[in-house]
Amino acid sequence: MPDIIHLLPDSVANQIAAGEVIQRPASAVKEMMENALDAGASTIRLIIKDAGKALIQVSDDGQGMSASDAHICFERHATSKISKAEDLFSIRTMGFRGEALASMAAIAQVELKTRREEDEIGILIQTEGSSITREEPCQCPKGTTISIKNLFYNIPARRNFLKSNAVEMRHIIDEFLRIALSHPDRFFSLHHEGQEVYHLPKASPKQRIVHVFGHQYSERLVPVEEDTNIIRLQGFAGKPDYAKKTRGEQFFFVNNRYIRDGYLHHAVMNAYEELLVPGSFPFYVLFISIDPAAIDVNVHPTKTEIKFEDEKPVYAIIRSAVKRSLGRYNIAPSLDFEA
Ligand code: ADP
Ligand code: MG
Repeated sequence: MPDIIHLLPDSVANQIAAGEVIQRPASAVKEMMENALDAGASTIRLIIKDAGKALIQVSDDGQGMSASDAHICFERHATSKISKAEDLFSIRTMGFRGEALASMAAIAQVELKTRREEDEIGILIQTEGSSITREEPCQCPKGTTISIKNLFYNIPARRNFLKSNAVEMRHIIDEFLRIALSHPDRFFSLHHEGQEVYHLPKASPKQRIVHVFGHQYSERLVPVEEDTNIIRLQGFAGKPDYAKKTRGEQFFFVNNRYIRDGYLHHAVMNAYEELLVPGSFPFYVLFISIDPAAIDVNVHPTKTEIKFEDEKPVYAIIRSAVKRSLGRYNIAPSLDFEA
């Protein structure tokens, strides 16, 4: 019997890995926007065509890449963000796996244009099937523009699995808004089919919420703040009268990263106690700052789940802080000394 094990070619290995990171157009949006944040951009523009199936383009005015960095960035495990295992416990950046661009190049046609401030001329790179097909100097503004064209063009099964444009666009907008909500100090815009869908000027955290959700929210928000030696908590909770029957306006960010956490959601719900009509969900946007060594973000490829070293005190702090805020701000009018 001959031996039967062989190593997969890179293009196949990359495609397999890409399946975990890039499930739909919205995943590519998240990865590219996070890269723009990590590059220190203050302006991030997202352009979408055909709900991301034809084009996802992210332009930023961040630090850009050198020609040789741009050449290597599509390799798997190519990253500027960590270099040794210990670094995993002090992560301050959104990315660190060095998987996103390699994944993108495996399942789409990618075009990168990038220039650093100190370089007179930028570089243009195009890829197809995980290989660079064009590489040449180009005139471009400082920063980076990445265009993801024809996502899943080479994986028909994946492409056929995509939902309607309305559904895919909803996912894209959700990712876009999570990032915009957690970075109010940056400018964001989103265009779909040539129409500007969002235009979000730099703002305070509260103004950003109002820009995203509508003017009526400015009267509905109660500030939440707590500083402890375990976490720092900041954000806003919605007045219970405006709680909705559907979910979708509950946001936790840990070190500016959007996460889902049923246990911490419960802490907030618990703080409202009987103030809520049963079956309704209050609005909240809560930012938790914590020592990166006390969490593990490397538990899931999309990083929307994280592990706390000890979640119980975090639960208790959130519950009591939200409760105190609700008590303090005109929830019970007779107790409202601040109006
Ligand atoms: P990761 O973000 O995990 O490091 P990526 O595959 O997303 O991995 O990106 C690889 C590398 O390419 C990054 O570490 C960064 O150095 C560079 N890069 C990607 N996007 C940008 C960008 N918008 N601006 C500057 N550099 C970028
Ligand atoms: Mg990245």
